[in-house]
Amino acid sequence: VNVQKFGGTSVGSIERIQHVATLVKESLVEDPQTCVVVSAMSGETDRLVSLYRQISPDIHTTEYDLLVASGEQAAASLLSAALNRVGVRAVPLLGFQAGFETDAKRGRARITQINEDLVLDYVKQGIVPVVTGFQGADAQGRITTLGRGGSDTSAVALAAAVKASVCKIYTDVSGVFTTDPRICPDARHIPRLSFEEMMELASLGAKVMHPRAIEIGAKFGIPIQVLNTFQKGNGTMIGSTHKDGDSFESPVVSAVTYDHNMILVSVKNVKSGVDALNEIFGKLSTHGVILDIIVHSAPRADGCFDLSFSAQREDALVVEQKLGGLQPEIQTGFSKVSIVGTGMASHSGVAARMFRVLSSAKVPVVCTTTSEIKVSCVIPSTQVEASVRGLHAEFNLAGA
Ligand code: ASP
Ligand code: MG
Repeated sequence: VNVQKFGGTSVGSIERIQHVATLVKESLVEDPQTCVVVSAMSGETDRLVSLYRQISPDIHTTEYDLLVASGEQAAASLLSAALNRVGVRAVPLLGFQAGFETDAKRGRARITQINEDLVLDYVKQGIVPVVTGFQGADAQGRITTLGRGGSDTSAVALAAAVKASVCKIYTDVSGVFTTDPRICPDARHIPRLSFEEMMELASLGAKVMHPRAIEIGAKFGIPIQVLNTFQKGNGTMIGSTHKDGDSFESPVVSAVTYDHNMILVSVKNVKSGVDALNEIFGKLSTHGVILDIIVHSAPRADGCFDLSFSAQREDALVVEQKLGGLQPEIQTGFSKVSIVGTGMASHSGVAARMFRVLSSAKVPVVCTTTSEIKVSCVIPSTQVEASVRGLHAEFNLAGA
């Protein structure tokens, strides 16, 4: 069994849906047991979200979920019909019909369980289930959605549930590149990446895939192949083992990425005490805010300290509401630039090289964080492009 997921641009028009139907039909020759997962037609989810926002700023509601889930419902119906028209037996299924159970967090639910029986029944009969990505239902049977970009997560989770040999993610780019080709036209295509590298890349802002999807792939050992719907090729294989001709050592840095979608929150004069951080971050986590880099000063003589952290822009309202009493200052205009690569775990001085590039370009670093395989710096958004170019060159990532 395999799972193929088609993103919004891949099903962005009737012609494209028909093209996808022929791609799926061709793929059945090699592997007749296929499940398909679809996103909404491109722009549709944005349209629905903006309709909703004209009524309410609070997207963590049942109404929001039911509304935005409808984009995938339309796409799955159209693709299933297109498959039937080209002679492939197919059936459209909503997330909950395909067995997706989630928690009840509105607007950002997590998958708790998948009952794959129905999907597998169809597959065994030679019928292609066309499942709506991005959604499921909670224990009360209410439709939930997984957060923007969540249909990748649906696809990989379904692949894990049906024990697929591969999850193919069809999109509008030919896989993962050493950086954004719009900033560096000489960016190179990367044929293979580890789950760890891709997980970092996805969560650091490379828009190719939803980070939660990679997490699931890694956890269940499902290789993920990122492919271009509009151009034949091998794309990028994530999480597969080596191939003949691989070199023994990984490059120090595999990719440079950036994320504009962030806010910088500063809270001044927090009373220090064993419970101070717990109180602040506990409040935010119950509302699903994903925190990023956290920096805090040592307590001063007056027993207070200052705290800053970066978070996602969509959480600005929640942060403001939940930390209201502490008078947080929420700033936009900052972005995060990161370098990623499993090779850096065994090389010293990688972060220093990054700081050297930024300092010689006169880029101020607001905060920074490192792990075994990445270094991230928060910098002014206006200086992202120059920094990405400098780093891409510094780590020899350009194509031959
Ligand atoms: N349609 C949803 C979105 O635009 C889910 C997805 O495409 O992955 O966020
Ligand atoms: Mg997507």
